[in-house]
Amino acid sequence: MCGDCGQKFTDDRWKASTAVEWDHGDNHPHLCDDCKYRTLEREQQARVDERERQEQERQEQEAAQASKAGGWLGRRRRS
Ligand SMILES: [Zn+2]
Repeated sequence: MCGDCGQKFTDDRWKASTAVEWDHGDNHPHLCDDCKYRTLEREQQARVDERERQEQERQEQEAAQASKAGGWLGRRRRS
């Protein structure tokens, strides 16, 4: 049965749900299709958010290093 909403799997549904290849494979064999879809969407969004956060962090670090290395360079990058 589904680990999230508690929906029971029939054998067919179980096979179908475990056979589906989502993204990098089935990481959620204990979720029904609906919950798995929601979970995967959340995870995908989380990955996107994480990438954006890391990218922003990297840019901030670069800007901080640039302004530390030389004042005029940092200011020029900022403007
Ligand atoms: Zn479910």
